[in-house]
Amino acid sequence: DGLIVSFGEMLIDFVPTVSGVSLAEAPGFLKAPGGAPANVAIAVARLGGKAAFIGKLGEDEFGHMLAGILKENGVSADGIPFDKGARTALAFVTLRADGEREFMFYRNPSADMLLTPDELNLELIRSAKVFHYGSISLIVEPCRSAHLKAMQVAKDAGALLSYDPNLRLPLWPSADEARKQIMSIWDKADVIKVSDVELEFLTGSDKIDDASAMSLWHDNLKLLLVTLGEKGCRYYTKNFHGSIDGYHVKAVDTTGAGDSFVGALLCKIVHDHDIIEDEPRLKEVLKFSCACGAITTTKKGAIPALPTEKEVISLLKGGK
Ligand code: ATP
Repeated sequence: DGLIVSFGEMLIDFVPTVSGVSLAEAPGFLKAPGGAPANVAIAVARLGGKAAFIGKLGEDEFGHMLAGILKENGVSADGIPFDKGARTALAFVTLRADGEREFMFYRNPSADMLLTPDELNLELIRSAKVFHYGSISLIVEPCRSAHLKAMQVAKDAGALLSYDPNLRLPLWPSADEARKQIMSIWDKADVIKVSDVELEFLTGSDKIDDASAMSLWHDNLKLLLVTLGEKGCRYYTKNFHGSIDGYHVKAVDTTGAGDSFVGALLCKIVHDHDIIEDEPRLKEVLKFSCACGAITTTKKGAIPALPTEKEVISLLKGGK
């Protein structure tokens, strides 16, 4: 058992064939399948865990290609409906020479946004031990209602709820709306992971410290994680808090590092939620998660870079 169900969007990122160009300058693009919740599901499966993805795809070649990638990786696609009218979501993404990320989304609307509450595979959701989600599925109806219903069904069935907001500002009508909606489901989650950038955005503080992290605490939360890129992560529980150093690797593309980190964590806690209450064991799990994140930065693309357990153990054995 130990099923992890990840809910949200799966899409294709089109990334330039050469680095350091603007979208307009790019001579061509490569398909890089992604979408944070789908990456998390694949991260879990690659580590040997049991995962399913729930989200809508277009009834088109790209939609079936993405469902095929999930299945090839051992992720259940039983919760994926295909929309006959709308296309699979696309995003053109580039890392410009000035280091800024430039996004251009094709979602007008895309199939993922059209998932309805009636289309949810409730049986699959009820069998989840962990239910994971982001915030992109909250942006528009009917997907928003589907998200809220799925979360409730999972919670009622006893699943641990895991939330990684994965802020994508350009998709929201305004920054205030993004903050408001991201926070509107805050107190439902048992485990929350934010990046340093999201911590600043959500708290309005320019400090990444214990006080700003703790300002995001809620009464029913079991574990709050703040990821810090190459610097590793910080963790907070009701009874203790601390940090885990990052691993030194030669990073070439950080896409998916956060998803890999989350997938690893969920994979380890799904069989034993009590790990969260036990600091030495939690630290071991988070070291493993940081190692997964680090490995994911060493290859281009998110999905091809997600590690197997063997690769992680080898990095852990080799030390920092
Ligand atoms: P993304 O949105 O790119 O998927 P994120 O911002 O959610 O990522 P990060 O903090 O970038 O999350 O990365 C998650 C974890 O991966 C970190 O806690 C760290 O352990 C590891 N990691 C990320 N970048 C690096 C790096 N350059 N070197 C080593 N480890 C890294």
